[in-house]
Amino acid sequence: MMQTELTADAYWFLAVMAFVVGTVCGSFFNVCIYRVPAGRSIVTPPSHCYACGTRIAAYDNIPLLSYLMLRGRCRHCGTRFSARYFLVELLCGLLYLWAYLRFGPSLVLLGHFAFIGLLVVGTFTDIDHFIIPDGVTLGGLWLSIGLAFGFGDASLPGKELRALIETLDYLLPELRAVAERLGWASSGVYALLSAAFGWVLLWSIGFLGRLMFRKEAMGGGDIKLFAFLGAYLGAVNCLYVLMLSTVSGALIGSVLLLTHKFAGRDEVEELALALPADPPMAAPAGNTETLASEHGPAGEPPPIVLRIARKTSRQLHHFPFGPYIAVAAILVLMFSEELIALTGRLIFVP
Ligand SMILES: [Zn+2]
Repeated sequence: MMQTELTADAYWFLAVMAFVVGTVCGSFFNVCIYRVPAGRSIVTPPSHCYACGTRIAAYDNIPLLSYLMLRGRCRHCGTRFSARYFLVELLCGLLYLWAYLRFGPSLVLLGHFAFIGLLVVGTFTDIDHFIIPDGVTLGGLWLSIGLAFGFGDASLPGKELRALIETLDYLLPELRAVAERLGWASSGVYALLSAAFGWVLLWSIGFLGRLMFRKEAMGGGDIKLFAFLGAYLGAVNCLYVLMLSTVSGALIGSVLLLTHKFAGRDEVEELALALPADPPMAAPAGNTETLASEHGPAGEPPPIVLRIARKTSRQLHHFPFGPYIAVAAILVLMFSEELIALTGRLIFVP
């Protein structure tokens, strides 16, 4: 590995750089999250305050620090910016640092940075607009295939293919023969096949979902996203992402639904909407349930609570699946070496 050639100072200097590069990229991803779903250019115009339109000067556009120094406000008009700008920058800094610590300084690490960035943009656009832009999914797909051809054995599809060849040798010696004939292109070809695998996998799940539940179970964005994941991670790793994301999505989704049910937010919302502005007439005896205690004195619906309830209920009735997939994909990336070794052991049947 390269880090053994580096002095400790250089290794940690690069670790700090990875974090800084992450925050700078995070700042750019914020722009993408905001502009790509609206179909606007991510290059022009330069960053400006959405309230007063003043262009944000370079010294006010330093990741993390500017947000802290200006306390999240526009220097000119004082409009408060969402804390998410800060959080996305911090998140990307930490993820890039983690990837550096896992994989060490190498060219492949830059590919991992791009992969993480695309997933961050996809996650937040999915949360905001329930879409994962084609720029993320199809853009990521072509980038991944290009990188697999470029990096060859060092790419994740390349590593997965080597592991499959080693473990399947006694069953399927043709696999090694085909890979040898393909030579340097074998990893890229395997990435293409893995992309097709991811696409067909999710398409079939969607097809079964339509048959069984008579409604759209899988968005087109999710299908393209899995083609991208197959191309970058390899087909078997793509299966790990599917398992991890469906299990965690089902668990967290049911917890959210249950707490939502227990909190009775839907009912509160409907009752609050139905309530007259004036204090209600005396409730009939026997039905003196606790509306007043839910709504505060005089039965006035509290507008802020109401707005939060409406927002959560709207978000709960549509589960964006993208964030679960992205978290699973980043975990599979970080533990890819272990998973590829595990795959070898699972497949091996003496
Ligand atoms: Zn402003």
